[in-house]
Amino acid sequence: MGGVPKQRKTKSRRNKRRMHLYLKERVLTKCPKCGKPVLPHTVCFNCGYYKGVEIVDVLKKLTKKERKKKEKEIKAKEKEERKEAREKPLTWEEMSRK
Ligand SMILES: [Zn+2]
Repeated sequence: MGGVPKQRKTKSRRNKRRMHLYLKERVLTKCPKCGKPVLPHTVCFNCGYYKGVEIVDVLKKLTKKERKKKEKEIKAKEKEERKEAREKPLTWEEMSRK
């Protein structure tokens, strides 16, 4: 009576059954704002941005010291981006001069 197993399963069979039970490697994408790896469809924990909009004020909950450090980090990143943008557009005149 009832759902009692009729036959013992060997370790081999048990382990074979559990072959597919494992954690998959997490998929990470890059945050377009700060470049840190983030989970897709999730607000970035580093800068609090999602889809180009600030959702969470990250600086608010930090201590003064941490905030300064982070602000510096963000500034450095923005500077870098500006530099890249400036270097990219090369007019035909500039190219011919070189
Ligand atoms: Zn970010």
